[in-house]
Amino acid sequence: MHVLTSLWGAGHAAYLVGGGVRDALLGKTVTDWDVATDALPERLLELFPGGGYDNRFGTVRVPSADMELEVTTFRRDHQYADHRRPDSVTFTTSLDEDLARRDFTVNAIAWSRDGLADPTGGLADLSAGVLRAVGEPQVRFDEDALRLLRAARLAAQLDFEIEPSTLAAMSTTAATVQHVSSERIGEELRKILRASPPSRALQILADTGVLRFALPELDAQRGIAQDKAPGMDLWAHCLAATDAAAQLAPANPRLRLAALVHDIGKPGTLADGHFIGHDTEGARLAELLLGRLAFPRREVEAVADLVRYHMFSYEPRWSGAAVRRFIRRVGRNLVDELLDLRAADNIGSGLPAKAGHLDELRTRVASELAAGAPLTLLELALRGDDLTAALDLAPGPVVGDLLEHLLQWVLDDPARNERAALIAEARMELERSSAG
Ligand code: ATP
Ligand code: MG
Repeated sequence: MHVLTSLWGAGHAAYLVGGGVRDALLGKTVTDWDVATDALPERLLELFPGGGYDNRFGTVRVPSADMELEVTTFRRDHQYADHRRPDSVTFTTSLDEDLARRDFTVNAIAWSRDGLADPTGGLADLSAGVLRAVGEPQVRFDEDALRLLRAARLAAQLDFEIEPSTLAAMSTTAATVQHVSSERIGEELRKILRASPPSRALQILADTGVLRFALPELDAQRGIAQDKAPGMDLWAHCLAATDAAAQLAPANPRLRLAALVHDIGKPGTLADGHFIGHDTEGARLAELLLGRLAFPRREVEAVADLVRYHMFSYEPRWSGAAVRRFIRRVGRNLVDELLDLRAADNIGSGLPAKAGHLDELRTRVASELAAGAPLTLLELALRGDDLTAALDLAPGPVVGDLLEHLLQWVLDDPARNERAALIAEARMELERSSAG
């Protein structure tokens, strides 16, 4: 790695550190490497003129052919007044000091051409599958509450057990997670949902009490009984559905997110053992939650729609028009995912994935889509302008109402989507409405 050899050649100490070393030792492929060195940032920029200085972290990013390289000067962190990462650091020339400020022992192993440096016992923990805080766990979580989320996430990602005193300290310091920005919580949640199974880290967060402060809307589902799956509270159901979503659609993290929040409206709508309107309320809460976590707008809207529509109940006696109206309501782009969400919801309730004639609905949706039936106003064989011209109408709300009527008429029978027929029907509808 040219960065290391350049630094060594210039007489500096330089090591690979952090998650890259950890993952390489576990035999995983590594794409992001971190380098720690005694060279100061100014010196780094002299040695690597193409490097970019990241002011927030005092890190120099060195572009490299096929990987991300972050080079960081050995440091001691200090000032954790607000339970977040410190905004001032002190550089040091001691590798051991730099390793001591890292979060977990498995993240505090350094590699150089002379071999591994492991002052905190990370190698032993790595081979035992243990995630252990460096130093005094309670102090370390209290300093930087992001570590609470990283602990749960890394334990799940690596399939490690959290060492008992580290785990206990997570419970004691849980409330400090309130000081972590929502955006960071969102980033960690995204990584948590990619771990397998996604429920593992979420359950750790729930058990330690971190969830209550990090994602209160999700925590509110704990302890709420529901009749769909007796003996399973809403939270257990939500986790089971999320794991099922990961299995059903490994390449689609959005489905996991939707499964995670699909019943988020239930706690607030519970009355007399029923959850009336929890779909609408859930869509509202999902939008608020994911918006706060700074998820991309499109993803927020898609998940909110999945929650909004997840309560459909299909019957084999649905007409073709009913199937088309269903697709129109949900949206062509989201309908398959909604059926996947139902399958995950089914599994999460202890039912077969296809319960509720889901396979039949899937087949019928697919054939409607393949037939290319018009499902939106834009797919009608005429525009508002055509109507105003043909019927001598002034533009206005009447035109919108007519177009909507025509779409409903065409949803009943797609063969009607033909310009002359549409104009004739619009004329009749106008007469009907002026008579009535
Ligand atoms: P991943 O890249 O999968 O998120 P990682 O362990 O590499 O995991 P990074 O955020 O890339 O995490 O950080 C690199 C290293 O910096 C970590 O391995 C750890 O040594 C140290 N580190 C990161 N965040 C913290 C923190 N909040 N407190 C202490 N040390 C940290
Ligand atoms: Mg990393």
